[in-house]
Amino acid sequence: MTTSRTKYFLAALAALACLALASLALNQPATASTTATKAKCGTARINAVKYFSGNVSIMCDSTWMYVSSLEIPNDEMMVGITGWNEQVPLPFVMSDVLSTMWKIPLKPTYSKTLTATTGVGATALMVNGVPLFNATKPSQVGNQSTYQAAADPLLTGELDHCDGHSGRGDDYHYHAYPTCLVSALVSFTHSTSSKVGILGWALDGFPIYGLTEPNGTPATKLDSCMGHDLKNGLGYHYHFSLSAPYSPMCFHGLVPPENNPEHQPAAAPARQAGAPAKVVITAMHFEIAGKSTLSYNYNGAPGSVTYWPTASADPNKDCWQFDYVNPPAGSPGTGSQIACRPRNGRGS
Ligand SMILES: [Zn+2]
Ligand SMILES: [Zn+2]
Repeated sequence: MTTSRTKYFLAALAALACLALASLALNQPATASTTATKAKCGTARINAVKYFSGNVSIMCDSTWMYVSSLEIPNDEMMVGITGWNEQVPLPFVMSDVLSTMWKIPLKPTYSKTLTATTGVGATALMVNGVPLFNATKPSQVGNQSTYQAAADPLLTGELDHCDGHSGRGDDYHYHAYPTCLVSALVSFTHSTSSKVGILGWALDGFPIYGLTEPNGTPATKLDSCMGHDLKNGLGYHYHFSLSAPYSPMCFHGLVPPENNPEHQPAAAPARQAGAPAKVVITAMHFEIAGKSTLSYNYNGAPGSVTYWPTASADPNKDCWQFDYVNPPAGSPGTGSQIACRPRNGRGS
């Protein structure tokens, strides 16, 4: 983490020094006169996100797709988790400031050299604006990930029915094939063909498709990053799989340092994460502006945590009040607390 943050800040400093004018332009609201527009994203990208317009929006210039997202799905969350790290889904702030949005290369560059995903932060962004992480914890060596079943959150009960959970920054993200997102797409489009369309984009800009090709044929001859180019007009792209590691563990495209996800909440968590606790999460009611409640059983006894946005004295931070309601004896989390997170997950 320290290394990646240092790299980010060095990259940011270099960008400030060399591209002062460009930086000024990027700090303009996207709604003001800038070179980025929705239309420049192209029909495929606009169509891919259009069913989730309340949660995610995109704009493009000639280089980037800028993505603004709540990073919250409009689906069930958290239910079914049996190894809870005591975190809950907290939304991010939708932004129209390009410099605070996710940046995905609009024209990805294929590279013969592979770049490993790190297991820290997102590897991709789904069409509903929810980040995708890989399926294993970061290696202690070189900050690169290789799949380890013992560290697969799907196998350790840490994922919900949608293959997502709230990570150490109280941020919601997927770690495997996003089943509820796919179901939502089928429901919105009234077509099962949507489950094999573009489900998201890796940080190198290449799209991630579903379990098969868009025409329904099996995804074959996948490389070690779960991608291929069939020379059929789709270009290089990745696939999901139902078997581990479920999504790419490496990038076959160049990953620009500029798109190091500033939203990576582990860099700026609101609260201390707990060790996975043996609770069963039974229900989640989420309200973006009101009271959200996550209900669980601990040793057969029900408890819940309720949380809601509360005023922040610091305009650069978002705060929430947490109340544990009737926590069972010995269960994790008690009492009340206010926790604040730097806006957009940026480090403070
Ligand atoms: Zn996670
Ligand atoms: Zn394919």
